[in-house]
Amino acid sequence: MRYFLPLLLLGSPVWAASAQISTDGVDCAQRVEALLPERPNTDVGTVRIHSFDTGVTWMEEGWMINGASRSVVRIPVPVHLVQIGARVVVIDSGYNAQMLDDPQAYVGRAFYQAALSLYPVPTGTGHWAAAGWMKALGFDPSAVDSLIITHPHFDHTGGIPDIGARQVLIGEGSREQYGRGHFGLSGVMEDPADRAVEIPLGLVGLVDAQTGGDVLGDGSIRIVSLPGHAKGSMGVWVQANEGPRILFVGDAIYGRPNLGNMLPGFEHLVEVADQPQIKMRRNDQDPKAAAETLLSLWCLDRWQDTHDEAILIVPAHDPRLFEDLLPRAPEVFEIGQEAQ
Ligand SMILES: [Zn+2]
Repeated sequence: MRYFLPLLLLGSPVWAASAQISTDGVDCAQRVEALLPERPNTDVGTVRIHSFDTGVTWMEEGWMINGASRSVVRIPVPVHLVQIGARVVVIDSGYNAQMLDDPQAYVGRAFYQAALSLYPVPTGTGHWAAAGWMKALGFDPSAVDSLIITHPHFDHTGGIPDIGARQVLIGEGSREQYGRGHFGLSGVMEDPADRAVEIPLGLVGLVDAQTGGDVLGDGSIRIVSLPGHAKGSMGVWVQANEGPRILFVGDAIYGRPNLGNMLPGFEHLVEVADQPQIKMRRNDQDPKAAAETLLSLWCLDRWQDTHDEAILIVPAHDPRLFEDLLPRAPEVFEIGQEAQ
């Protein structure tokens, strides 16, 4: 299936009823300029995106989307595989296979019991993990050019040990989170369980996301800093020479509706000191930075109103990810020129 104009989820009456913050004095031009990359200056051809999710998590929608209902919805924990010519780049790695098969063994009994009250344990089987999906789609999990991890949380890092990437790219400032040797669970627990997964740290490459990481050297995939949610949080641009541009934002926001009401989702919110109209998630590592990131994404989203270009902002856990933003594999989202 070929998309040139993405179908976007544009807020609902529930979210529209939420208070809009004043954006007077917000320099959107500067924020967009800092985020929006140049188009590739060479012909990158067709960019194919294969998106799938690793396991099933059910949560109250209001936990993710501020102002949404308490009804329980399916939350994706996605992996996005980007295919450009012969090169494959994977964005985030989802749950670990063992997390899906036997979460209690993976995280340890004590954490498992404690976590049940905080975080819904995913259901599924290890077949749903990234490597299994990749094989099913015809990709070799051991032949990935780059694996980019938006931030060091276990629902984004779990598949790393099973993907043989030439390099694993993580955000500046997040190395400590990974360096514990307990890759799967950093950011979730202070004292990781002894069954947590280790990765060969020699594979890890730090990305200075501030200056922009041009992952393939042709401008098609670029990393930008989206600070706040976790240490070294970053977003990943995927673009061709034409067509919509996609910004994968990890958990900078939980769902697109959060752009509409300027709240990032999560029912347990804290106020940000000098921005009382913005409330942020308690689990953000730096709520103030997260608020700034939210404002920048809001600006970027509005930029489309005055420009004849589509930008698709893709949060990892938008409950309607596969209905409204990207098709679920094996369906492929293609941008750019027709394949030869
Ligand atoms: Zn997440």
